[in-house]
Amino acid sequence: MNKILVVGSVNIDLVIKTERIPSLGETVSGSGFSTICGGKGANQAVAIAKSGGDVTMLACVGDDVYGKMAISNLNQAGVCPAVKVCDNAPTGVAVITVCGGDNHIILDAGANGLVTIEMIAANEALFQAADIVVLQLEIPMEAVETAARLAKKHGCTVVLNPAPFQPLSRALILNVDLFVPNEFEASQVVGFEISGKEQVKKAICALEEMGIKQPVITLGAQGSAFRYGGEVVFQPAFRVTAVDTTAAGDTFIGGICACLCRGLTLKESVRYASAASAIAVSRFGASVSVPSKEEVLTFLS
Ligand code: ADP
Repeated sequence: MNKILVVGSVNIDLVIKTERIPSLGETVSGSGFSTICGGKGANQAVAIAKSGGDVTMLACVGDDVYGKMAISNLNQAGVCPAVKVCDNAPTGVAVITVCGGDNHIILDAGANGLVTIEMIAANEALFQAADIVVLQLEIPMEAVETAARLAKKHGCTVVLNPAPFQPLSRALILNVDLFVPNEFEASQVVGFEISGKEQVKKAICALEEMGIKQPVITLGAQGSAFRYGGEVVFQPAFRVTAVDTTAAGDTFIGGICACLCRGLTLKESVRYASAASAIAVSRFGASVSVPSKEEVLTFLS
């Protein structure tokens, strides 16, 4: 089977629900506290493994209980963790307050900031062994740029999820083969708001004009759009009752990568990824909500 390398973030999400957001200096009661394994990189690696992909994750965690928890989560999902345990920073933590339909998030990237150019270079063998390299933007930008360059040097397909959005260098853009932004991130890159199918088509053309080879824009409950056989095609989202949209995009990207590795076409891969992310959206949590390949195939049958 083809090999996938994810280079990215590992976080632990500390989530608490509350009826209202406290004012300055005020304490309010919360409920339903949960400690959830997250981080876009780790979520995408777990999604790939659950879809049957052969995946290794290159990342950093702190020498603490959350780091151990995150590594155990990767192992349990079937991800091979190439995770450096650092004693000079804590594991990345997101403190999330859920109030009604809104999330308030404070992120300490912690050890994710220690994924350096040097660390990437020291792990060149992982790039040499990989067929697909998957990147997001929750580690330092120079590490992402170095990883993309090293991946191209070894003939890998480079997948970039530009989240959370940051301006992208032309050098990085030109090293990307498959670019998977959500609607907001795509609009930041092209510099205009995207609403409606015509704008989505225009955005795909604009991304291509910038040198991006294969953009796939995700559109939340509206599905996704990409060019296939010369045309921009829309894959509608599967209808589910949305419970928690955390990690919808991560599940989608994991599903696409696992399918491309099995030799499926982009169209087939996007259909599978849409089903996987619809199932994830119908459940609570981040990586715990990601379905297995069997569940997705049953859903599609
Ligand atoms: P992100 O989580 O990165 O913001 P999106 O919200 O665009 O990404 O979701 C990614 C994919 O997940 C969508 O393209 C769609 O296939 C699926 N999805 C998202 N929200 C829903 C929903 N409410 N119902 C069904 N599928 C959804």
